[in-house]
Amino acid sequence: MSNKKDNTVLEKIVSLCKRRGFVYPSSEIYGGLAAIYDYGHYGTLLKNNIRDSWWKSMIQMRDDVVGLDSAIFMHPTTWVASGHVGGFNDPQIDCKVCKNRFRADHLLKSYGIEADKATLEEINNHLNELRAKKKLKCPNCGSTNLTDAKIFSLMVKSNIGSPTDELKEENVVYLRPETCGGIYLEYKNTVDSLHKKLPFGIAQVGKAFRNEIVARQFIFRTREFEQMEMQYFLRPSMMKEKYEMWKEIRWNWYLANGIPADKIKWYKHDKLAHYASEAYDILYDFKALGGFDEVEGIHARGNWDLTQHAKFSGVDLNYIDEITGDKFIPHIMETSAGLNRMLLMFLDCAYSEEAVKDETRIVMKFPKHLAPIKIAIFPLLRNKPELVKKAKELYLELAKNYMCEFDDNGNIGKRYRRQDEIGTPFCVTVDFDTLEDGQVTVRDRDTMEQTRVKISELENFFQDKFSK
Ligand code: ATP
Repeated sequence: MSNKKDNTVLEKIVSLCKRRGFVYPSSEIYGGLAAIYDYGHYGTLLKNNIRDSWWKSMIQMRDDVVGLDSAIFMHPTTWVASGHVGGFNDPQIDCKVCKNRFRADHLLKSYGIEADKATLEEINNHLNELRAKKKLKCPNCGSTNLTDAKIFSLMVKSNIGSPTDELKEENVVYLRPETCGGIYLEYKNTVDSLHKKLPFGIAQVGKAFRNEIVARQFIFRTREFEQMEMQYFLRPSMMKEKYEMWKEIRWNWYLANGIPADKIKWYKHDKLAHYASEAYDILYDFKALGGFDEVEGIHARGNWDLTQHAKFSGVDLNYIDEITGDKFIPHIMETSAGLNRMLLMFLDCAYSEEAVKDETRIVMKFPKHLAPIKIAIFPLLRNKPELVKKAKELYLELAKNYMCEFDDNGNIGKRYRRQDEIGTPFCVTVDFDTLEDGQVTVRDRDTMEQTRVKISELENFFQDKFSK
């Protein structure tokens, strides 16, 4: 990531999220809990809409992918078999002066050294070279007094089911660090119960937990987060074709959700995990974070995951081809996206400031289908019962098909400003003329144009607007 980070954009988004009820720091009345966030009314609606768009494209519109909702807690051996207990670590480095903590691979990246997947020894060698040249400095306070890098496990532990209060190693049950573990363990049940034939995918959305060393980029990197993952099971001979197919499908999903093509790009991993044959990430150009960073990974994982789980569980996870009689462990390619990170991407992309007369209008230009509130309905004046009654009736009618909001707070200008900051595509105002001519004023978020529409025509009007 480049260093020209625009803190002001990040601050503005963080402040809007809190002010308008998208995202709050968790446990704030107790001083907060680092890198954990809560989602308010609009944040939850936006997150659900992103999730639904993913689910529709990945499951509803495909007959080769099925859904799953597996548990967060899984048998502890799962994470031994997957290699997470032994090796899901990040290298940590501390500043002895300001006590700030960093990821050593990220620190090296700021010196142009790629150390993703490097061993601890390699990382310390790079750090020592920089030290010898007197270049190694704390990014926070500039001190040269930094520790060596050491290994920090990202696994989050619990004592669920343990009879003791103690978190003894033998009692530990981990909170899953990724959702795909649940998919591998339900591969056999899915084949047995749904009779899926290769190639097919299993997809799920759910929480994952990682004890991230540094988590300072708002909801980009948190310790509790949600993933949207799909594991596609196939014959190794199909990998190349299906890998290209899924790369295209995932790329097009971003475009269909309003992300401009020049705001995303591919990053090809040169250093691969030992079992992987190909790995690409989709990077988004975050204004708030100063450049491109990962939102999704698309990886060809070979048959390593199922082979490991077969070995550690003793259960046969072979696939038997009914026609040819072939017996083999399927290979897997995965698409793995962070839901909260995508939410930040959509906030970042939607955030705009426009000069309107002498004022600055902040408007969240979400694509209509992702906007948390689709239509806001106002009575012109809150103290006129006949206007309030008509507006309430209209609200209840429109709410049957759209997520709506009734608002009678403050003057109309203030209500428009509030809805712009929430990203509501349309506002409908009931005024005195409405009572005479049965028409309302519909105001468009993006053009700010106002049109009079007959109440009897509203359903068709919005059907047309929201189908575009
Ligand atoms: P990084 O190298 O940035 O730590 P990763 O490459 O280990 O991340 P994956 O394990 O591939 O990430 O996870 C897949 C997706 O899950 C990521 O692309 C990201 O969108 C999301 N994700 C991973 N870790 C976090 C986190 N701590 N907070 C929020 N989202 C995350």
